Amino acid sequence: MAGRRIARLVSLVLPRGKHRASRVEADLAPIAALLAAGQLDNNDTAWCDTCPGRRVHAFHPDGSRTCWTCTTTTEAE
Ligand SMILES: [Zn+2]
Repeated sequence: MAGRRIARLVSLVLPRGKHRASRVEADLAPIAALLAAGQLDNNDTAWCDTCPGRRVHAFHPDGSRTCWTCTTTTEAE
């Protein structure tokens, strides 16, 4: 089930416990669509201007990256 896989991935990257930041309501549909299409290339931390800070990102084959926390996509540098 792709839904369960996505939920598990989200549970791994969202902050929790006493260090939890203020809750960010994220629309995970874009990431779910990329997962379903097999277009996610790699995950690593990178700077996110929207959060801001270093966050786990999905890196795409074209060099762009999508923040797992706020779902902002940053174009290749
Ligand atoms: Zn972000």
